[in-house]
Amino acid sequence: MKRIAILGATGSVGRQALEVIEANPGRFRASLLTAGSNVTKLVELARVFRPDAVAIADESCYQALRDGMEGTGITVYAGNAGLCEAVSVPGIDLVLTALVGYCGLQPTLAAIRSGKDIALANKETLVVAGDLITREISRRHVALLPVDSEHSAIFQCLAGEEGNRLEKIYLTASGGPFRGKKSKELAAVTHEQALKHPNWSMGAKITIDSASLMNKGLEVIEAKWLFDLEARQIEVLVHPQSVVHSIAQFEDGSMKAQMGLPDMKLPIQYALAYPERVKNDFPRLDFSRFGELSFEKPDRETFRNLDLAYEALEKGGNMPCILNAANEVVVQAFLEDRIGFLQMPDIIAACMQKVDFLPQPSYEDYVLTDGETRQLALSLLAISKVVY
Ligand code: NAD
Ligand code: MG
Repeated sequence: MKRIAILGATGSVGRQALEVIEANPGRFRASLLTAGSNVTKLVELARVFRPDAVAIADESCYQALRDGMEGTGITVYAGNAGLCEAVSVPGIDLVLTALVGYCGLQPTLAAIRSGKDIALANKETLVVAGDLITREISRRHVALLPVDSEHSAIFQCLAGEEGNRLEKIYLTASGGPFRGKKSKELAAVTHEQALKHPNWSMGAKITIDSASLMNKGLEVIEAKWLFDLEARQIEVLVHPQSVVHSIAQFEDGSMKAQMGLPDMKLPIQYALAYPERVKNDFPRLDFSRFGELSFEKPDRETFRNLDLAYEALEKGGNMPCILNAANEVVVQAFLEDRIGFLQMPDIIAACMQKVDFLPQPSYEDYVLTDGETRQLALSLLAISKVVY
């Protein structure tokens, strides 16, 4: 029985992971469930899944969570420190990081440092501090298993290839709801339109990132750290059907692709059960339903975020942390209708120019960079609001 902690159990990935656990009662058990501030949902899930502990990041929700857990014997933690403590206790075999954004960094580090294997959905953590995370992973001899569908695809292509090197990888992108649109049309798109993803149903932040191609940019940086690649070895291909989840190319020129329907439950299950494949009844891909599978180059002039992410990757140091923090601020502002779609890359680019560059940041430097960038991005928002 694998005992699994789910950080961000109330979110899109978290809930799908719970469906996988529910379908395999003899194989997996949820031992810790956490949420940001949604107490009602967390209590509901804990009453069904009966974990050993629950944790809520928002400390003001502590009493409500305690009340909800009364009489269950389930331990209750609160606050960021509580999250880190909850994930560090013995009795957890694997930690699924399904929380969204920079807030995943500290609990992920705590989980690694207490010897837990990691199933990583929270890509922002690797984007912000990939060097720190990968160093800690090898120092503690724990596993880092990708959950993101593209990275799971590459990881699955690498099975049985020990000792064989990747020449390059192709990360596929659906292109999102605005594929084919030009800047003139994008100037007026709303967050409601951006939230309508053609192939995947996901949390709000990653859905906006998919529409702006920042999601693919973050995934390029994520791939660098997961597979130890240079920027020039990572190529993005727009593939609107989302059937080929990504492609690995080896040094003999041979290419392997992993395919399937777009359903996050498969990569989640692969990471939870790794190295086994578990029989399930998820819908199967029917090729006759797809007239064709097509591939095209991304429109990097219109969707500038992709180039910004490559730039951050090439520059290294705290630059990806700056990119990520600015992006988190502008995505939130776009969701609140405070800025337009095209202002997002403008503000990110300005932050990348203005925040102090540090070539070899420590953990404390990342914390400072994140805070400083958020402040700058917020002040730029205030100005652009006037202009807008
Ligand atoms: P979501 O918004 O649906 O859920 C986020 C979870 O994080 C919730 O449980 C929420 O309570 C928790 N959370 C939010 N703020 C928090 C905070 N400050 N402290 C602690 N917990 C907090 O997000 P999602 O779509 O499930 O995405 C989760 C992560 O997985 C993201 O990094 C995303 O990029 C990645 N991912 C998601 C999908 C998908 O299909 N949704 C696919 C690939 C990768
Ligand atoms: Mg992905």
